[in-house]
Amino acid sequence: MIKPDAVRAGDSGLILDQIIRSGFEIKALKLVQLSQKEAEAFYAVHCERPFYGSLVEFMTSGPVVAAILEKENAVEAYRTLIGSTNPENAAEGTIRKRFASSIQNNAVHGSDSDENAEIECSFFFNHFERV
Ligand code: GDP
Repeated sequence: MIKPDAVRAGDSGLILDQIIRSGFEIKALKLVQLSQKEAEAFYAVHCERPFYGSLVEFMTSGPVVAAILEKENAVEAYRTLIGSTNPENAAEGTIRKRFASSIQNNAVHGSDSDENAEIECSFFFNHFERV
């Protein structure tokens, strides 16, 4: 997912370009506005964290670009490509280093396991929207 900060900044194209050039194939793609309920559900795992309310507010502050990406060992490869959660700690050249402004407004989301990737793919896309 490209988060509202990066969509607002006009960085969606450059981010998708970096993802594609890094060898990922786009299997689904769309621009969507998350409702409060949808953002709360998407980040339910963080509901006890002090930043949950702020995160939900941020994630509903504008549209996001949702995508399904395919590559060998995709979860690990994509997390390497995006860099650390906090852009201050992200490696040079990573998407978060290039485009993120804070630990919360960090430009992109990535699934943390194959199992969660499948859940998150189904959250955003029905089977007509996936190739
Ligand atoms: P990720 O897997 O790298 O996205 O990181 P996490 O799963 O730990 O956190 C989910 C998202 O919550 C992050 O991408 C940030 O947008 C946000 N987040 C994480 N830690 C913090 C924090 O300490 N403060 C705030 N405000 N947001 C955070």
